[in-house]
Amino acid sequence: MTKFSDLKLHAKVLKAVDEAGYESPTPIQAGAIPPALEGRDVLGIAQTGTGKTAGFVLPMISMLARGRARARMPRSLVLCPTRELAAQVAENFDTYAKHVKLSKALLIGGVSFKEQDTLIDKGVDVLIATPGRLLDHFERGKLILSDVKVMVVDEADRMLDMGFIPDIERIFGLTPFTRQTLFFSATMAPEIERITNTFLHTPERIEVARQATASETIEQGVVMFRGSRRDRADSEKRKLLRLLIDAEGDALTNAIVFCNRKMDVDIVAKSLKKYGYDAAPIHGDLDQSQRTRTLDGFRNGELKLLIASDVAARGLDVPSVSHVINFDVPGHAEDYVHRIGRTGRAGREGKAITLCNPRDEKNLEDVQRLIQKEIPRLDSPLKGAAAPAKTDRPETAEEAPKPARRTRRKPEDKPAAKPAEAAQEAKQPESKPAPENKPSRGGRGRGGRKQEGGGNKVVGMGDHMPGFIALSFDERRTD
Ligand code: AMP
Repeated sequence: MTKFSDLKLHAKVLKAVDEAGYESPTPIQAGAIPPALEGRDVLGIAQTGTGKTAGFVLPMISMLARGRARARMPRSLVLCPTRELAAQVAENFDTYAKHVKLSKALLIGGVSFKEQDTLIDKGVDVLIATPGRLLDHFERGKLILSDVKVMVVDEADRMLDMGFIPDIERIFGLTPFTRQTLFFSATMAPEIERITNTFLHTPERIEVARQATASETIEQGVVMFRGSRRDRADSEKRKLLRLLIDAEGDALTNAIVFCNRKMDVDIVAKSLKKYGYDAAPIHGDLDQSQRTRTLDGFRNGELKLLIASDVAARGLDVPSVSHVINFDVPGHAEDYVHRIGRTGRAGREGKAITLCNPRDEKNLEDVQRLIQKEIPRLDSPLKGAAAPAKTDRPETAEEAPKPARRTRRKPEDKPAAKPAEAAQEAKQPESKPAPENKPSRGGRGRGGRKQEGGGNKVVGMGDHMPGFIALSFDERRTD
């Protein structure tokens, strides 16, 4: 087995690795570090949880340990799809570069330009950025990329999902042709293949086992769910979630609950809190300081239930999550693998429970096809409790038993969803969460970054009638 000491890393980096308690390099590290240290391009096909971050951070620190950065001219660049992931990469630099003098700057949205400008002006060895914010700085004339010696693209498949590929291509074009590129992606979609063929020079290709096949320590189960009445389905599903959480008892030390839509992330978090659960939401529409606070709380054990959207949770490194609960079956089968990969990390036991209503059955089939196994069906704790028990406290006044038929809508029966929210909901296709890194400004014609809600514009009322209009008022209610 390869040892870290075989990898020709800088002695001070080895010391930090030793202090981190790692015994041996993971396969992606053993495969990527030697060619990276030789100055070669690397194409790593690996998901989060495989140790890929250290796979590029360790050789970068070793290489950057010599030399100094010039003002506004970073020596290396790491591009990440989300702010959280960028912040996590920055933490990795702090951990592994603690014995080496390296300066770094984190360029992410939601943080003032001024602070970031000051850092860039001083000169940074490592610039860690989301593509949009990086280009914003570049366009303001604050950044020169012609001294970049190493460029990393992390989670390229997620960049593709979020519409960042034109930005990435542009950034490649702003860096010197002679730069070294370390490129990581969980999958090799044709568009990713094209990018790597264009911008990487005879890369060393390292592919590590898909997490789908590696996650044997995760116990998986799916609970089939059908609401007793259409207008009650949503609140019953939240009740099912609570019962499932309760049924896990002490075995559930902490959990990430994934929802497909940001709106549901908020609703589920709010509902759980109302029932006394320790829960908080995380998604791209929340401001950065709140996201950071929530995440820190979850990491250090102060928060038990993190309710998350896919993009916000992508790549989050939370070492010990006992449970992942999919409140919805994800629309992209690969997201299932990413989601459940948050638990059962580094050989620990984990449990992943998925709620599936009839509408999601096709997505469930896709997931099972991808992971090449049938997910065992679990009994629903709602069985027997499905009929609205008299003792069930309604979640909201609106869920209190209503007369069987209403002839006239009273003004106070207004749906709680504001029209704008309902329209937003209608705009976001359930099967595909909207990108979360909002384009910073419209109208600059920068490549193809997708707008929130994708290209699902409502253009009229013919064939394009927004879905929410077809729903009854009760269905539009979001509590
Ligand atoms: P990543 O795939 O980069 O998100 O890393 C996943 C987790 O693996 C992180 O918690 C790392 O701290 C941890 N890790 C990285 N390299 C090693 C290693 N060689 N041995 C044990 N754990 C590691």
